[in-house]
Amino acid sequence: MSLNKLIKYNNKRYRNRYILIAIIVIIIILLMVFFIILKNTKKSKAVEQKETDNENMMLTAELKEKEEREKEKKEEEMAKGIIYLTFDDGPSSTVTPQILDILKQKNIKATFFVLHYTDENAKYIKEEKEQGHTIGLHGYTHNYSEVYQSVDACIDNFKKIQQQVKETTGYTANTVRFIGGSSNTVSKKYCEGIMTEATQRVLNEGFRYFDWNIDSDDSGKAKTSADVYNNVVSGIKENRNNVVLMHDFANNEKTVEALPSIIDYGLENGYVFRKITDDTPMLIHTVKN
Ligand SMILES: [Zn+2]
Repeated sequence: MSLNKLIKYNNKRYRNRYILIAIIVIIIILLMVFFIILKNTKKSKAVEQKETDNENMMLTAELKEKEEREKEKKEEEMAKGIIYLTFDDGPSSTVTPQILDILKQKNIKATFFVLHYTDENAKYIKEEKEQGHTIGLHGYTHNYSEVYQSVDACIDNFKKIQQQVKETTGYTANTVRFIGGSSNTVSKKYCEGIMTEATQRVLNEGFRYFDWNIDSDDSGKAKTSADVYNNVVSGIKENRNNVVLMHDFANNEKTVEALPSIIDYGLENGYVFRKITDDTPMLIHTVKN
């Protein structure tokens, strides 16, 4: 073989080798691209599926809630009236768990207007929320001279307990009950005309407030469970929202004892029990200060 021919032959051999290597590299790259696309398609399909599942779950929950609400509305229309049980001044380790047990047993939802609580008692607030009751705000303190020294102090008293409830449950409560109710005259001693202004301010601050039209008097003259029962039952009236004032402060055993019979009376006489919600029309007293 001449030198020229040998060079040509070698060039051709090298060129063939380069082409082969190039083809292999291209195949590897194509395979890599193919697998990456395949993987991403699989991943996005999985994400899509998960999103669809979540949407479906939310739709089912929404639908269930809507159905539940419609069922409740029908029950309310058929009922003689609605009873809203409200418990102020809790939580307490002695009375609150007993009340929660009774409500659970009777499958009744109620409203708790709570005061500042210890870390130890936070579990009752959590339980109230978990059982589907409404947590309302009564105040960080129940001390009239502090709460009613100024409108700012009064609003602050709600905001502070609102914050504590939020820290415990993650829920921002917006339903409030004034210490002593909006018709209290004790506040006059500390600030003339405060309730006239405070009742407006709470609304401007985005709260809704509730008084009551049935007083169990369990923080006053009622001494026995029979007193509590009679005060409540004699106040229940047809074709209206009956908002019952009761207390779950410590040692209020008479209310615990009266509660099952009060619920039975309501149910046997064609009433339904409800918790206060954003849809519940505010029930308020005439301001006297
Ligand atoms: Zn109170």
